[in-house]
Amino acid sequence: MRNRAVAGAGRPQSHARPDSEAGMKAIVSLNAGSSSIKFALYRLSGGQLDFDAGGKIEGIGTSPRLVARDAGSETIVEKTWPGGDALSHENLLEDLFAWAATQLGDRKVAAIGHRIVHGGVRFAAPQIIDDTLLDALDALIPLAPLHQPHNLAAVRALRLLAPLLPQIACFDTAFHHGMPPLATRLPIPRAFHGQGVRRYGFHGLSYEYIAGRLREIDPALAAGRVIAAHLGNGASMCAMRAGASVDTTMGFTALDGLMMGTRSGAIDPGVVLHLQTQVGMAAQAVETLLYEQSGLLGVSGISGDMRTLHASDAPEAKEAVALFVQQAGRQAAALIPALGGLDGLVFTAGIGENDSEIRAAICERLAWTGVILDLDANASNAPVISAPDSRVIVRIVPTDEERVIADHTVALINRHGRGRR
Ligand code: ADP
Repeated sequence: MRNRAVAGAGRPQSHARPDSEAGMKAIVSLNAGSSSIKFALYRLSGGQLDFDAGGKIEGIGTSPRLVARDAGSETIVEKTWPGGDALSHENLLEDLFAWAATQLGDRKVAAIGHRIVHGGVRFAAPQIIDDTLLDALDALIPLAPLHQPHNLAAVRALRLLAPLLPQIACFDTAFHHGMPPLATRLPIPRAFHGQGVRRYGFHGLSYEYIAGRLREIDPALAAGRVIAAHLGNGASMCAMRAGASVDTTMGFTALDGLMMGTRSGAIDPGVVLHLQTQVGMAAQAVETLLYEQSGLLGVSGISGDMRTLHASDAPEAKEAVALFVQQAGRQAAALIPALGGLDGLVFTAGIGENDSEIRAAICERLAWTGVILDLDANASNAPVISAPDSRVIVRIVPTDEERVIADHTVALINRHGRGRR
């Protein structure tokens, strides 16, 4: 099973070659989190990447469930594992790759690209993973203790399964590397900045996709001042000037900024001190409270899922939704000075792409910027949801982080292959 699990696993790293020379290939994108693994498979032919299938394994550690869809969004696999609570990420990755090998048929996996949450101050671009890089990424675990270990565990598990298969790290922080220095500073004693206690920003792969997609569909707007709102379970916003990040709501960690499904977002740091010194909570308990028990879940006491809250009549659910909107408006407004105005607002991710009520409520809070929504376009999730006379163009752009990872992966193995010749 091991050898069969990853098609083409035996090719040495240094032999990774452009597709035109190497025949039919495939690229895999992976986003391994604490309780889920998202993946996408792409066919690589003639230098072109075509989506083949993708999906996720959710519920890792409790009751894992795999769902995969093909390019036509048809479900092609649904699987649960009896006694699945005992299965590790490694076990599930092995099963996932056995399935992927079947799905890909004769196509050989040329490389795997990973979403790696933290690239620190050093990594501004994707990297081929080797021992030295893994050590450097291990050293960043204290900066992202809840995400980075899972990202790296997947890399290591695949190295065991397929030792010679090139693996590429694509960093969620990289897109924000060029932020103006002030946007990276925290107002605490400056020595900490040098120790890495600074603002990094996250969701960078999503924002990179949005910036690239905007250049294709609306080049004039792409060249202007845009706030991209990634509203999913995790949520953030990015101020982009001519497609480059100039400020963002997440900072040192992915806890800052907007209220999220289960994360608090920005709160008075005095609350953390109070919980520890007055309430007597241990640091670990505060961490769990802020990452897993707060946000929509904490305020509603019902769920961290926006759809569930919309379906509830409970006043607490309504209050949680209202607070989400209020916080989103506040955070968006706080980004505008970095842009010196606003030409466009782009909604993406689960809530941003699908939830017309939340979009309308956020836009209402930003009406003073010149946003006028076309209510029908908004209700139907149209690509442009602002009215013709709106000073700010409002768009929905479905994000595709896996695609960005796959694109980077191909580019890097091609460059690497050329460099080796
Ligand atoms: P993740 O950050 O895990 O990738 P998603 O981008 O899938 O999350 O977003 C999940 C959120 O999007 C949930 O709150 C969910 O309720 C919401 N969502 C997804 N689809 C819809 C929809 N059709 N209508 C409203 N909300 C949706």
